Amino acid sequence: MSGATLFPALALLLTTCIAHAGWLHKDADIMGTRISVELFHDDPAVARRGVDAVFEEMHRIDRDMSPWIATSELSRLNREAAQHPVAVSDELFELIRTSVHYSRLTHGAFDITFASVGFLYDYRKGVHPDEPERRAATELINYRNLVLQAQGHTIAYSKPGVRIDLGGIAKGYAVDRSIRLLQALGIHQALVTAGGDSRMIGERWKGRPWNIGVRDPRDEHKLVAVIPLENVAVSTSGDYERFFEEDGIRYHHIINPASGDSARGMHSATLIGPDATTTDALSTSVFVLGVERGLALVNSLPNIDAILVDAQGHLHYSEGLLAADRGEDIVKTPATPAAR
Ligand code: ADP
Ligand code: MG
Repeated sequence: MSGATLFPALALLLTTCIAHAGWLHKDADIMGTRISVELFHDDPAVARRGVDAVFEEMHRIDRDMSPWIATSELSRLNREAAQHPVAVSDELFELIRTSVHYSRLTHGAFDITFASVGFLYDYRKGVHPDEPERRAATELINYRNLVLQAQGHTIAYSKPGVRIDLGGIAKGYAVDRSIRLLQALGIHQALVTAGGDSRMIGERWKGRPWNIGVRDPRDEHKLVAVIPLENVAVSTSGDYERFFEEDGIRYHHIINPASGDSARGMHSATLIGPDATTTDALSTSVFVLGVERGLALVNSLPNIDAILVDAQGHLHYSEGLLAADRGEDIVKTPATPAAR
């Protein structure tokens, strides 16, 4: 999965000391990205159990859903589903079904079959497909090439060469699963982050919300907005997470399914919503849709907000964040202009 970076897409500004009694904080690299958990419980043993549960869950989801692990359920699907329908676990079936839901909602901007071309890129090595290769592989990108059978939970690919990758939704899903596990343990104040996807429950400390900072896509030390939030999820998709440049063109990990090339309509999309599966899928989608169509989608959905940094470095807010009662709480700073 993607998102490996020294700096998570969201820089988190903490208003209080994390080492406060009862709070536990742990970071680790799993799923090719930085996982971080902060939580509070009066009983330190319960707090520790919570942290362990989250990391175990992240490892489990990675083992099942990573396209880079040959023994994962997802890898098996990619190897076999073009030959015959493959029965998959309820969990994988549901997440693929949810992905297809977002494909329909976004008119194909979100599409897990992007991987049919995505595998031809290697951002670390600076590799991209040439034009004919890209065109041929892009023909295979289409969520309609996935045949889902509710009975027996089977999935088949209708063409050879189709591949899927859940990198645009699985980290958000893993965050949501983790929050559910914490709640089951009786933990009600926590922040779980996987790369650019975070969800927080409860208040940060004594009635104070969490402060979430949106980083400047062209300056990792600068924040373009700081928003006080509680009981929500936040996801950022950015063109600075995984990229290389060639002849002045930035190749990065968010693919426009229509072209098979990196989407270049903006620098980052930060989505706020009730759960991280939703905000993860929508941040990737809005990034692909671009500012105008992306904001139109966000403004049409209840309980979803967005902060976009366009390709010129200008900021755009969804209607919910511009509303007087919320707008004044946001600290806004201009982003670095485009050329950097
Ligand atoms: P990050 O992984 O950096 O948090 P995103 O949530 O935007 O950022 O996810 C980007 C990942 O989503 C890519 O690495 C890839 O695995 C996947 N992806 C890329 N383009 C698409 C797309 N059009 N639809 C669905 N998933 C995509
Ligand atoms: Mg995403």
